[in-house]
Order: sequence, then C-alpha cells, then structure tokens
Amino acid sequence: MLLRHTTAKEIQRKALTINPAKTCQPVGAMYAALGLHRCLPHSHGSQGCCSYHRSTLTRHFKEPVMAATSSFSEGSSVFGGSSNLVSAIDTIFTVYEPDIIAVHTTCLSETIGDDMTQIISKAKEEGKIPEGKIVIYCNTPSYVGTHITGYSNQISAFVKFFSTATPKKKNVVNLVAGWMEPSDMREIKRIARVMEARIILFPDMSGVLDTPLTGKFEMYPSGGTTIQEIIATGDSKFTIGLGAYSTEDACVKLENKCRVRFEVVEIPIGLKATDRFVISLSRHANVPVPDVLTEERGRLVDLIADNSKYFYKKRVALFGDPDTLIPLTEFLLTLDMKPVYIVTGTPGKHFDESIRELLSERVPEAKYKSGERADMFQLHQWIKQEPVDLLIGNTYGKYIARDENIPFIRLGFPVTDRPGNNYFPHIGYVGASNLVTKFLEKMLDYQDRTCPESKVEFQM
Ligand code: SF4
Repeated sequence: MLLRHTTAKEIQRKALTINPAKTCQPVGAMYAALGLHRCLPHSHGSQGCCSYHRSTLTRHFKEPVMAATSSFSEGSSVFGGSSNLVSAIDTIFTVYEPDIIAVHTTCLSETIGDDMTQIISKAKEEGKIPEGKIVIYCNTPSYVGTHITGYSNQISAFVKFFSTATPKKKNVVNLVAGWMEPSDMREIKRIARVMEARIILFPDMSGVLDTPLTGKFEMYPSGGTTIQEIIATGDSKFTIGLGAYSTEDACVKLENKCRVRFEVVEIPIGLKATDRFVISLSRHANVPVPDVLTEERGRLVDLIADNSKYFYKKRVALFGDPDTLIPLTEFLLTLDMKPVYIVTGTPGKHFDESIRELLSERVPEAKYKSGERADMFQLHQWIKQEPVDLLIGNTYGKYIARDENIPFIRLGFPVTDRPGNNYFPHIGYVGASNLVTKFLEKMLDYQDRTCPESKVEFQM
C-alpha cells in the first residue's frame, strides 16, 4: 500500500495540495524551445531548477535534453542575475554555437525582478551576441500557472520575436502545435502531406526528441521549425491552433501582429476531434480530404464497432493536461465509456465549461476539477468512494493503480517508466486506433487475470 494514508472520506482543504496534477512553467518553456531548430534553451535561475527541468524531460523522452543555466549564487539571488546571464550568453555562443538562445525565467529571477529586455540589450551592446545569432526570452514565473502556461508563453515569444508580415500573403496554413509528443507532430505533418496542404508547424519536436541512434552525438539534431519558417508565419493566410491552453495566446498575438486570422480546435485525439481538425485544415488550405484518410477513419470506426461490448459503460478516471483531457473525454464518450473523474492542475474556465458540456447529459454524476487545488489525492479519494475500471494519466498514477488494482494507461507527461510515447502517435485516426488497442489490451489482460477460472475465454 504505497498510498496507505489516502482515505475515502474527504475533508475540506483550503490551503493544501497533495500530489498536484501539474509541473512547473519552465519545463514547458524548455520543451517548446527544443522545437526550434538549433535553439538552446536557457534557464535564468539557479542550477537546481535547470537540473529538475532537464531531468524531467530527459526521463520522459529517454533522450539527452540540452539546456544552459545562469547558475545563480547567493550574490545573484540578492543583487540580480544580470552579469551571470551576460557572461552565460558569451560562453554559450562561444562553446556550444546555437543559432538561438531561448531564455526563460524562474521563480527566483522573477521574484528579484530581473529585466530581461535590458539584460539582453546589455549583452548585445557588449558584443556578446555574434552577428546573425539571436537571443529571445519569455517570462515563466512558476508560482502561477503550470508547464502548459510555460509552453504557451514560449511559443508566444516565437511569434513576438520572429513572425513578420510582408505585403505578399502565401497559400500556407500555420499549425500551432499544442503540447503533444514528437510522434504526434510527425503524424500531424503526415496528415498534412497526404492532404497536400502547405503548412508551417511550430514548434516541432519531431527529429529532435525521437532521433535515431547513429552512434554520433549531435548537439542540434536535424528537426525543429527553422527561424525562417517562424518568420514566414506572418505571411500565411490562416492559423489553426491545436489546443486552447497551449496555443490560443500565440494565435491571438500572430493575428494582432501580422493580421493572420485563426481558429483554435482541440488537439486531434479521438474520432470527432480528428474530424474537426481534418475539416478545418481542408477548408483553410483549400484541399480535399483524400481517400487514404477516409480509409484510416473507416478502419478506426470498424475497430470501435468490433469491440464496443468491452467499452460499454466502463468507468474511467483521467488526469493530466486540459488540452489532452478535453478531446480524450470526448473520445471516451464516443466509445460509450463513462469518464467519471477528471482532474487537471492547469487553471482555466475553458476546461470546466468543455467538460460540463460534454458530460452534463451523458454522465451527470461525473466529478471534475481544475487549477492548483485539483490534485491526485482527491482523485484517489473519489476512486476509493466508487471504483473505476480504467485509470489514464502520467506515471504518477501508477501508485493509485497499484493500490486500487486498476488497469492503468500511461498517457500524458511525464511518463518515466515505460518507453514508446514519443514514437507511436495518439492523435489522428491512426493514433486513435493505437489508443483503442491500448485500452483493450489493459482491460482484457485484467479480465483474463482476475476473472474466475470458469470464465476464462480463449476467444474474446
Ligand atoms: S517551481 Fe520555481 S523554484 Fe521550483 S523548479 Fe520550478 S522554477 Fe525552479
């Protein structure tokens, strides 16, 4: 019993979060910065923060995540980290030779009040930024928001620093990727390719955090959106943001700066969300939906129909990031499952409204919660009060799954104890088929293992 102190009885808590369903802002900023080609993320704070953010990403992706730090000491913690950052910029360009340094702040540098614009200007005046090299920044104070806020702040900074409108608009659609796996970004590009839609995807971690083993170390792998591509987003004719929490701010900024109109759809997880994404891309890129996608969709529907009896009325608890949970909840309903408990540590009304709209008629008894008071302790209490048939979330859910003996699907961030999430997509029709297969494998394995001997079936 790893979580033996969790009780079914809930006590009113006003100022205590236990096992929050989130991590900190700079983790998201660091992840997004890796989706820019030849970019080195830089953490403006103490070494401990940077080590934590790097190791969280490294453990999930099983790839070495490179990032630099301003390495605050006692002195910089009191008087500010200006000189640390200026000398770090000099060292980084001299030794590690990135094209861009993407600086994000931390709790400490935000509390001190370091002025990033002024520090970067100082580095430029002192000749620490070589010709053709760039330093950008975003503010990521982690006492507000979550890793999703940090991700959103970083991609908004891409727009702020790079996107440029010229008089020549191009027949290109920008796709702003919400927090998803490199495998999902690869799948987004494949879908656009088979549709023959001209797109700019940003950020793009495929080819960065899912690289093949070649025996040769590459500090900057071949993947990532190039600076030229991000500059060109200002000339595209439309933008589709994938996931409101991660991308809406960048979409709004791009519209304000370069007059590129936008639409935000859900991350295409599941049948309906993928339909909406494909229709949106088809309309705005002015291309038809090809047969190959219609066939993939048909295979997914067939897979669901063949196995509907295993899904019907199965109770599911899920936790993680709102941009994932909203379409995932919708997909579970498509499968005739019952998402009964849903928790995200990321605050925002959109989650509550979307989940209410999805569940109020079909699962009126569902409990859901978002924001800093939403934690996995309470999720566990709800499960103790009335059990579920399936738990979906990141690796932190394994303790609940073990204690309550629930089939557990690892999905979200971080997944540190199983490989593969960055290789096999969960978005699009192919990704939805992968998800259906995962759900079935877990639930049917559980049935085979726990049912009475007389009920063990060869054919299922
Ligand atoms: S929460 Fe703040 S202090 Fe803690 S690791 Fe994140 S940035 Fe650093």
